[in-house]
Amino acid sequence: MEYLDLFVKEEDSLLLNTVRKFVEKEIFPVRQLIDDDKDHVIVTEILQKMVDLGLFRALIPPEFGGDGMPSPFSRLLLRTELARGDMGINLSWAVTEWALRPAIMANNKTVMDTYAPWFTGDKLHLACFSITEPHSGCDVENVDHFHGRSVRVKAKLDGDEWVISGQKSLASNSGVADLYCVLCQTDPELEEEGLVFLYVPKDARGLSFGKFENKAGVQGDRNCDVYFDDVRVPKEHCAAGPGEDGKLLRVQLVAGRMASAANAVGNAMAVFEHVLKYTGERIVGGKPIREHSIAAGMLADMAIGIETAKAFMLQCAYMGTKPEIYGAPYSSQALSRASMAKVYATDMAIMVANKAMELMGSYGYFRDYNIEKYWRDNKIVQLWLGGAQLGRLDAVRGYYKLD
Ligand SMILES: Cc1cc2nc3c(=O)[nH]c(=O)nc-3n(C[C@H](O)[C@H](O)[C@H](O)COP(=O)(O)OP(=O)(O)OC[C@H]3O[C@@H](n4cnc5c(N)ncnc54)[C@H](O)[C@@H]3O)c2cc1C
Repeated sequence: MEYLDLFVKEEDSLLLNTVRKFVEKEIFPVRQLIDDDKDHVIVTEILQKMVDLGLFRALIPPEFGGDGMPSPFSRLLLRTELARGDMGINLSWAVTEWALRPAIMANNKTVMDTYAPWFTGDKLHLACFSITEPHSGCDVENVDHFHGRSVRVKAKLDGDEWVISGQKSLASNSGVADLYCVLCQTDPELEEEGLVFLYVPKDARGLSFGKFENKAGVQGDRNCDVYFDDVRVPKEHCAAGPGEDGKLLRVQLVAGRMASAANAVGNAMAVFEHVLKYTGERIVGGKPIREHSIAAGMLADMAIGIETAKAFMLQCAYMGTKPEIYGAPYSSQALSRASMAKVYATDMAIMVANKAMELMGSYGYFRDYNIEKYWRDNKIVQLWLGGAQLGRLDAVRGYYKLD
């Protein structure tokens, strides 16, 4: 039995193989063109092919009309495979799941009956999970310090409707998504108990968008400001409701940081494949680069980093399936583990891309040689969702109380 068979069921491994082949056939040949694809023609075509492959239907559990996602392990490995192809495309798909999760976890039939058909059909639809605000990036995620008080987008109940006002920023798929899962505060005095996730369709009256951000990488993903000018949604279009949604935010942070670890591992795997080949072919000092012991040592550090980050990610995913031993999915222990997995994997992926570029000399810096796009795309995985610093604070919070 292979080691991964401990985690991945047979049918999931078929899916993983299919996705690996899909990435090689559909994404590898065009990934270098994505930066210049200002109208997202290539990206949209690939995402539509992912719809055709059933990857969006897989985001919806069978009880809501989808095929259901594989196990938590295969889910992470799917992200790894897609990030190996292109981080931005992986983001557009993975964030759609992230946005739907609060309603799925809350078993909210109204939201799912209304919106699940968008994602189980033949046409491409994206969703956006929007928690970041212009004045609260990491502070929104710093739940053990701010306890939800840093969320400024307001939601008030008016009869049978929520009324939303304020501004969100930077979320993946913003401006292009058809559905927005928006973190709002109903009453700052209630702290986390006042938080709610509300579902807002793109055509809601009072919803508007800023221009797309100009980023260093992940051009396959779109990000902009989102403005809520007394946007109204039905009362039932709240994930679980005040008191419960704060816990769901914590679960979402755990899921997002675990997914970030998977993204970083996939990116580093791709870089390693490229650099291994290149250093086996390019001759310096009379022999292939990788035959020099100084280069071999660098390649070893890359391989050690990738394998340990992947193994630790799977360990954390396993511990997440045993809450009775390792803590509830919304516990500080779960957030600590996921933060360690993210911090370790993202630092590792940056190290791998940097070393690969050094080993390839100036060619590593050229667009035609692939590495520089992985290098640019991968940095943001470290910066988002709490960054390297809050990630470390949350890591130690699993061991002692730290305000
Ligand atoms: C491509 C992309 C995709 C994104 N996707 C999403 C998405 O899908 N949904 C969404 O809601 N947002 C998304 N974001 C936003 C992202 O998660 C935030 O930008 C991120 O959390 C950091 O917030 P900030 O940029 O405001 O940094 P700040 O909060 O200003 O942090 C700045 C620095 O301070 C550090 N820091 C933070 N807190 C502390 C502390 N307590 N002590 C010490 N240091 C600290 C940070 O690590 C960082 O180094 C995305 C951003 C990008 C660029």
